[in-house]
Amino acid sequence: MKHLVQKIAGVLWAVVLLGLTLLPGPGEFFAFSPVFFTTTLGFSFPVAGAWFLAVYLTGLAVGRALGYFPQVWVAPEILAMTALYGVPTFLKGRQDRARESFQTQYAADKQQYDVFRETAEPLKKENLQNEKQLRQIEHLYDVIKEAGSTLNVQEMIELTRDFTERMFDLPHFVIAVLSNDAKKYEIRIASGCDESLFRSFDIDLEDSGLAAFLSREKKPVWVPSVAEKEPFSRLRNLAVKSFVFLPFLVQDRVIGFLCSYSNQEDFIDQDKFAHFQVFCNQISIGLQKSLLYEKVQKLSITDGLTKLFSHRHFKQRLEEELILANRYSSQLSLLILDIDHFKRYNDSYGHVAGDHVLMDVARILKEQSDMTHIAARYGGEEMVLVAPETTKEQAMELAQKIRRAVEAYAFSVGKETTQVTVSIGVATYPQDSQTTLDLIAKADKALYAAKARGRNRIVVYPL
Ligand code: GH3
Ligand code: MG
Ligand code: MG
Repeated sequence: MKHLVQKIAGVLWAVVLLGLTLLPGPGEFFAFSPVFFTTTLGFSFPVAGAWFLAVYLTGLAVGRALGYFPQVWVAPEILAMTALYGVPTFLKGRQDRARESFQTQYAADKQQYDVFRETAEPLKKENLQNEKQLRQIEHLYDVIKEAGSTLNVQEMIELTRDFTERMFDLPHFVIAVLSNDAKKYEIRIASGCDESLFRSFDIDLEDSGLAAFLSREKKPVWVPSVAEKEPFSRLRNLAVKSFVFLPFLVQDRVIGFLCSYSNQEDFIDQDKFAHFQVFCNQISIGLQKSLLYEKVQKLSITDGLTKLFSHRHFKQRLEEELILANRYSSQLSLLILDIDHFKRYNDSYGHVAGDHVLMDVARILKEQSDMTHIAARYGGEEMVLVAPETTKEQAMELAQKIRRAVEAYAFSVGKETTQVTVSIGVATYPQDSQTTLDLIAKADKALYAAKARGRNRIVVYPL
């Protein structure tokens, strides 16, 4: 049934051609014509070709035997046509079989490959996941190592910024740390934000703003879409679409936080956020350590009552500043200040009031000096001020300013106000002295001279 049409066509074509062969004249041509198409027919329609050939050759042989065809040779023709049909058909058959076996092989291989790929795909994914985790662990290891190697708060914060940029690739983030007096959070890093704007921001612990509120909650917050969650929807006004907040928690105390935002939703996925939390926990430990270290250090160089630098720190800094002055051939002045008749003040108003005077005078001293000056409590009611790159004339002016400010100040004792004056001695490097101790001695001499000349005055060395 399959090749019925081909069979019928082959038989019909043979019968027609045999008929045409019987024609007197062109009949001979038709007798040879199969030579021209047998091969092609065999290739294109093998079944039609075979049936044609069988019927035609049989017809030819029978016809000749019966004397219908005048030619005598039949066998060579039959052989030629059989060859013309048989050889290419045989070759084609071989080719077809080879192709078939190749296709079978190909299909089998492909199936095997598909199976292999199916099993390889999850393995590849797993591998990627493992690689990612390994990288995260390596990063965390680096964080722990580096966080352990610094005791400096600023370095610790910069380290946090570097790692945050490197590991999490956040567009905008802010790092804030608890201030020394633990009353507010100071923004120390504002990456990708308007730095100057943010740096001037302090966040009061009791503030009603979002950051202070979240700090009080003491929980990490992950908001992939601010529109859906209160109280973050208000951030929409700032074009913020997603947001994370990570407190630096140490024993239930928030010593700072890192918050990041984006103007696109889902800027950080849950996986990344989880990793971020582990990172922030490590940072918290390092930060706490450096904050404590800084505090202890500050305490050790600070005078408890006046909050000026301690005597020891003053000596150390004076030595350093003298080395610098020497290196850069600049001048340095030293002021020694002593409160006049302070014993008498204590006797009249009590030591507590005296302590307040010390604190107030120290504050005035700081107010009148600038960032480059080093103000310290020398001992008792004596204070010093190291003024680098300051000539004798400039130091004298500075001393006068301080003296006048103290003189003008109303020191309160209960409801009363009292007056206090100070005497100040000034000596300058390198004219008056070359060494630390000698410079102090010269300034001290000048101070004594000020006392001797009636107090509430400035005396500059040499006398
Ligand atoms: P002057 O310097 O003008 O010669 O007189 P003075 O009375 O200030 O003299 P002196 O320097 O001898 O006295 C220092 C006094 O300062 C003695 C002490 O009672 C007082 N004093 C030192 N340290 C403190 C302190 O920490 N608190 C209080 N309240 N008084 C202090
Ligand atoms: Mg005194
Ligand atoms: Mg004194």
